[in-house]
Amino acid sequence: AQDGRPFRMAVIGSGPAGFYTSYRVMSQIENSVIDMYEHLPVPFGLVRFGVAPDHPEVKYCQDKFQEVAESPRFNFAGNISIGNEEGQLPLETLFPHYDAILFAYGASKDRTLGIPGENLKGIYSARAFVGWYNGLPEYADLNPELTRGDEAVVIGQGNVAMDVARILLEDVDVLRKTDITENAIERLSKSTVKRVRIVGRRGLRQAAFTIKEIRELIKLPAVGFHPVDESLIPEDISTLPRPPRRIMELLKKGSDASLSTAPKSWSLDFRLSPKSFNSSSIWPNQLRSMTFEKNRLTPDPFDLAAAVSGTGEMVEIPAYTAFRSIGYKSEALPGSRDLGVPFDDRVGIITNDGFGRVIDKYMGSTIAPTFGGLYCAGWVKRGPTGVIASTMSDAFQTADAISQDWYAPGSRFLGDTLEQGESTGLGWEGVKVEAEKRGCRRISWDDWKKIDLAEKKNGKAKGKPREKFTRLDDMLAVLD
Ligand code: FAD
Repeated sequence: AQDGRPFRMAVIGSGPAGFYTSYRVMSQIENSVIDMYEHLPVPFGLVRFGVAPDHPEVKYCQDKFQEVAESPRFNFAGNISIGNEEGQLPLETLFPHYDAILFAYGASKDRTLGIPGENLKGIYSARAFVGWYNGLPEYADLNPELTRGDEAVVIGQGNVAMDVARILLEDVDVLRKTDITENAIERLSKSTVKRVRIVGRRGLRQAAFTIKEIRELIKLPAVGFHPVDESLIPEDISTLPRPPRRIMELLKKGSDASLSTAPKSWSLDFRLSPKSFNSSSIWPNQLRSMTFEKNRLTPDPFDLAAAVSGTGEMVEIPAYTAFRSIGYKSEALPGSRDLGVPFDDRVGIITNDGFGRVIDKYMGSTIAPTFGGLYCAGWVKRGPTGVIASTMSDAFQTADAISQDWYAPGSRFLGDTLEQGESTGLGWEGVKVEAEKRGCRRISWDDWKKIDLAEKKNGKAKGKPREKFTRLDDMLAVLD
């Protein structure tokens, strides 16, 4: 630890991981000052661009983040992307001015299936679809095709898949009152999708969804539920742990809406592995169906750790639209490997000691830090799974590691690896010149508050909590 001046940390990413780590570090290291770099002009990561618009209660964590950001020891640098491309700020420009850097930049790519036909029209990643209805500028022009036919398939059975299915099936008049974008409402209101199949490789016992999401789907008015394959439910469910037991009870009971009269319906289709996306001869570029291979589960479908293997039997399922919901993916920050920040491509995380200290596994010892002062939290530390609550615990763990290191005699921080032997401690004040040289326009927290206010005002006129700006220019125009 360096005496005299404040502990200066750069945080890359303004999602829950960045904010919760900042909160804890600021409360544990009294004279700490944090600068948070965010590549969009607006904060909160997946709380804004992932969490479903009909889950407003999940977004309450933003109030806590707002409180953190209001501290005089916190600076927001929005609209600054860390990277090596034109208009981005290279990671190396931060190094001389901080004691520590926290990587909390989440997972901004998605996994692909790598099967034939994946480029046909009508196939979307859940990340793109979710980003589109939540106003992520990257997908402002996605305009998913929802009017070609009545059958859609969601590949994957996690909670993101459930969000996608619910948005496709929910009454648009309910969605209209949420912060979903106007463009999405307009398109969803014309959707001809009537039947949604949510398809998974494994069985009911192994499924990743949770009861809240299933209950929401089951309870949708005027949406029927096709019964689940009963062979996946054990005869005696009383011995099962509570969460799967309750899910099975709920699914057995089914929905109140009658399949014969409800205009829309959904199903959970188990034990199917996607093999190809198919078009038809009339529309050779357009998705028309999907081929799946039936799977077997061994030793039996009720074993939580059952192994999955193909039976060789194929089934074709009609699909005009398909959503790939098989997970998000993190990548190494451009230029970071050259600076000695190791990234494990196999797992898709920054190599760390489990407590958030960036380590280099190939340096001889498994817990040897590359050099001090580098930390990670959230999805880029653990992989892209887990809810906001688990991201918070994980962020607190990283914050504890940071403060322990700061107060431990002899521990190394960023400055210790520089030739001059110490960090300038200037933070943003030192970085600013470099950012300006590259044409970066920094958005401060006060600027964000103006954008926030404008969004709320635009929403109020339509009876919604906010109308998000979906284009960067429109966000920035509020400030001119
Ligand atoms: P993120 O929230 O992704 O934040 C990362 C931030 O880093 C982003 O703001 C990004 O713009 C920024 N960034 C990326 N690259 C750069 C760069 N180069 N320079 C600067 N900044 C950068 N959890 C719940 O509890 N309830 C829910 O209902 C729920 N719904 C979800 C729905 C979806 C579709 C998804 C995907 C997730 C959902 N989650 C939900 C999980 C929750 O969103 C995550 O646990 C949490 O957001 C992970 O936090 P993070 O900070 O690691 O990443």
